[in-house]
Amino acid sequence: MTKIVILGGSFAGLTAAFDLKRKLKDEVDITVISKSKNFVFIPSLIWVPFGWRKPEDISFDLKPVLENKGIKFVHAEATKIIPDKNLVETTSGNYEYDFLVIATGPDLHFSEVEGLGPNGGYTTSICTIDHALHAGEKWDEFVKNPGPIVIGATQKASCFGAAYEYVFNIEYAARKAGIRDKVSITFVTSEPFLGNFGLGGVGKSQKMTEYFFKKVGIRGITNVAIEKITPNEIYLSNGEVLPYKYAMIIPPFLGVKAIRDSGLGNEAGFIPVDDTYKHVNYDNIYAAGVAVAVKYPEPTQIPIGVPKTGYMSEVMARVAVDNIISKVLGKNHAKKLAFADIAPLCVMDAGNMGVFFMASRNFKPRKYHILFPGPWSHWMKVWFEKYYIWKMRNGYTQLP
Ligand SMILES: Cc1cc2nc3c(=O)[nH]c(=O)nc-3n(C[C@H](O)[C@H](O)[C@H](O)COP(=O)(O)OP(=O)(O)OC[C@H]3O[C@@H](n4cnc5c(N)ncnc54)[C@H](O)[C@@H]3O)c2cc1C
Repeated sequence: MTKIVILGGSFAGLTAAFDLKRKLKDEVDITVISKSKNFVFIPSLIWVPFGWRKPEDISFDLKPVLENKGIKFVHAEATKIIPDKNLVETTSGNYEYDFLVIATGPDLHFSEVEGLGPNGGYTTSICTIDHALHAGEKWDEFVKNPGPIVIGATQKASCFGAAYEYVFNIEYAARKAGIRDKVSITFVTSEPFLGNFGLGGVGKSQKMTEYFFKKVGIRGITNVAIEKITPNEIYLSNGEVLPYKYAMIIPPFLGVKAIRDSGLGNEAGFIPVDDTYKHVNYDNIYAAGVAVAVKYPEPTQIPIGVPKTGYMSEVMARVAVDNIISKVLGKNHAKKLAFADIAPLCVMDAGNMGVFFMASRNFKPRKYHILFPGPWSHWMKVWFEKYYIWKMRNGYTQLP
């Protein structure tokens, strides 16, 4: 029986696990190894600080869900991969594999900027449940004693969409809390222009973002790096110093330590893959999701990364799965889909409204792009959250 080990139990890892098991049934022995024992619907973390979601609303236990499908689950952290021995070392023993799927997501690189982040720094984050809960405690304190808010994303960040969603949600939350007139809101980003999203913009996303910022009174500062953060001020590379009482800044992402320690990644620890999502140097190692190395296609004044969204993570996992199946069954077909050619699909929430966008491919040139703002986008994200958690809880990854 072919042994497949999957590192990570989130968007990419679960998609790979369920799809492989459904398609290969008893031909494969699949083990998912995950540092976290839960699946968390990360896109809803933007609502946790305001009490609009509780952790239990947006997460579930991986073990019963996977075991119900005949997939083994190990709650452990992979610490090293030894590709020449087809072996993964973890905090709970060693695991051999015939095929390995790396879907370990990011390490959050707060040390890029002095004073950044909730652990030892001064800014909040919404990248994990613990961070979002901490951001909520800070929000509750802030509401009692409001002042300037700074939201944004650092140099080398990639997850810009989350920062945009959060700035609109915090603006909405400030209105709901009756403190909007006591609060200034500034959005700071390394993107070359507002609405770039790390994808070079989508359709009229720049104009649209500028319009909505103006409409709700958010000041945008683009093309800047953050040099340092003190308890009350944020120092920017353009010489500006922004005072703040509440700040949420998305950090740069790195590949996880296990990858960096195994020499399988690029300088940032992301896995270099070909268009089949196979490691460029190893025939039996695949990667999907945030773990994959992708470069922004053109030079920017301030270095920025490329977002690998939940949807893109799933698409990558599906391509990897097709290619693993082909090898397991001894077929000679390779499914290829370059990251640039993935058609992005996203709903960005803005409190009581939002934007839906899709495009023919991640990077320009594109044949089409669609960008629909409106309150229904908010409800679409709410519906999608419920649908997606149901889908993953039941292993129905054959559904869209
Ligand atoms: C605040 C926020 C909002 C977002 N909103 C959206 C959105 O609206 N729409 C959208 O499409 N995307 C959104 N994203 C992006 C989306 O969350 C990611 O694309 C998605 O989580 C990537 O999935 P992944 O499986 O690659 O990695 P992750 O979801 O990061 O999961 C990584 C998995 O690997 C495990 N792991 C990590 N290290 C190890 C290790 N050493 N050993 C074993 N297991 C390990 C983790 O426990 C986890 O199970 C958002 C991201 C953030 C932070």
